[in-house]
Amino acid sequence: MMVAETIADMKRLRLKLAESVGFVPTMGYLHEGHLALVRQARAENPSVVVSIFVNPTQFGPEEDFGKYPRNPQRDLALLEKEGVDIVFMPSVAEMYPPQFGSWVEVGKVAERLEGASRPGHFRGVATVVARLFDVVQPDKAYFGQKDAQQAIVIKKMVADRNLSVEIVAVPTVREPDGLAMSSRNIYLNPEERKAALVLYQALSLAQKLWSQGKKDAQTIRQEMTALIQKQPLADIDYISIADAETLDELDEVRPPALVSMAVRIGKTRLIDNVVL
Ligand code: AMP
Repeated sequence: MMVAETIADMKRLRLKLAESVGFVPTMGYLHEGHLALVRQARAENPSVVVSIFVNPTQFGPEEDFGKYPRNPQRDLALLEKEGVDIVFMPSVAEMYPPQFGSWVEVGKVAERLEGASRPGHFRGVATVVARLFDVVQPDKAYFGQKDAQQAIVIKKMVADRNLSVEIVAVPTVREPDGLAMSSRNIYLNPEERKAALVLYQALSLAQKLWSQGKKDAQTIRQEMTALIQKQPLADIDYISIADAETLDELDEVRPPALVSMAVRIGKTRLIDNVVL
């Protein structure tokens, strides 16, 4: 496995890779969710590139950029075991030189949900992914359904820019009790870890109500809200039932509908979703 720390090195190594190239962008501190993306990329492409870059421009000023968990040595050992060809681990200065100014704005789908709660978040995400795509030149890029809106935003960016990369969405990997795997789960103390299950319980409730024939989105949102409010450590940021392509909020649930939420458990903000 080769490790590139500069754009110049990454571009040079890229020239030697067999086509097609599968790419998995990450912020590191890898878990089974990330590895599911890597394994799918490995299964579908002769060459696999993974990036590890904690992207400062997608964090708000009050967010956790400084304390975001990092463990590059462990990450590299895990990726080596998965048979990854190249790990691209640039510095912040490499990705954002002082003269950098080509920001990527994606429009309406980036302004809802996570975009409304985290202004500028998807501008940072779209910009860094566009830059990573420029350097890595992937044929296919793999994104987790865990960050459903991110995958939608990236698909929109690819369509708007006529990029020839195929975006593949990979199902969410969960802990045995249902909690979606996330690097941020490390912030939870044991009591909060138990409380965090309420996200999955609320999504399961939505699925159950939908399968019982309930079509009124507001009723489902209200039942989810009531369930989460019973958990004293949980504080709802948003609960949404939206069209899975446009992210317009729905009155009547019509598939494919994205049921998504952001909930604070103590100080930790968690997101999760299911598609109906
Ligand atoms: P991150 O390191 O949090 O930026 O995530 C890198 C990629 O892994 C993104 O495409 C995420 O959607 C994906 N990912 C993170 N957690 C999970 C999970 N539990 N299941 C599937 N994909 C995930």
